[in-house]
Amino acid sequence: MTDGIDIEGLTKRYGELTVVEDVSFTARSGRVVGLLGRNGAGKTTTLRMLLGLARPTSGRATIFGHPYPELPRAAHRVGVSIDGIGPSAAGSGRADLRIWAKTLGLPRTRVDDVLEQVGLAADAHRKIRDYSQGMRQRHALATALLADPELLILDEPANGLDPDGIRWLRELLRSLADEGRTVLVSSHLLAEVEQMADDIVILQKTLRYSGTAAELTRNGAVSLESRFFDLVGPAVKENAHA
Ligand code: ADP
Repeated sequence: MTDGIDIEGLTKRYGELTVVEDVSFTARSGRVVGLLGRNGAGKTTTLRMLLGLARPTSGRATIFGHPYPELPRAAHRVGVSIDGIGPSAAGSGRADLRIWAKTLGLPRTRVDDVLEQVGLAADAHRKIRDYSQGMRQRHALATALLADPELLILDEPANGLDPDGIRWLRELLRSLADEGRTVLVSSHLLAEVEQMADDIVILQKTLRYSGTAAELTRNGAVSLESRFFDLVGPAVKENAHA
């Protein structure tokens, strides 16, 4: 299968420390896939390996059948929001997007379209460094959406958003998936993911669950929160020795 993300047996060790171990899952078009786990569970490391920003110790990760760095037109086809890639914060929200649009060969009008789409049109002239965390999240999303990509990879996109922002994000991701895109979104906020994800991947260094949200919660009969703790264990203590 090559119509989304394929992760197979992905493992990452830093010296003696294994932070991701033998993780496999897929993300398909038309689906919002929530990548869930506690802080330190390995979510960002998994996304970094998927994007070629960290080298897997073993296993492989592909997007549309290619490792991301070898994917033709990757920057057009895949929208990314992850720490460490992004604007310098020195320029205005609009200026930064214009640079990125130029790099991608996109018309300037796209910049105004996405600023409107993420609700930043009125603040587009302000410096990114003066943005609130929620505004930065919206700006990062605008960057990810600029090329109208087929697939989105968003690391903790709800962090810093207020309740209106979270609702807006949920509706935006839903509509992007309904248009046939693949959306992989990491989060440690269970309630938010419960509301938006079709499929759930739970990580706690190893894979604890990969499948539909409906199956996980038995069609809503059990809360995602209780299923999450069943699968990853309740204990911060146990975690410290894992
Ligand atoms: P999450 O995104 O789920 O919060 P991360 O993938 O950021 O988790 O981190 C998983 C674990 O890997 C953490 O214990 C973190 O300290 C460790 N880690 C991440 N990057 C490095 C690195 N470059 N060197 C050593 N350890 C790292």
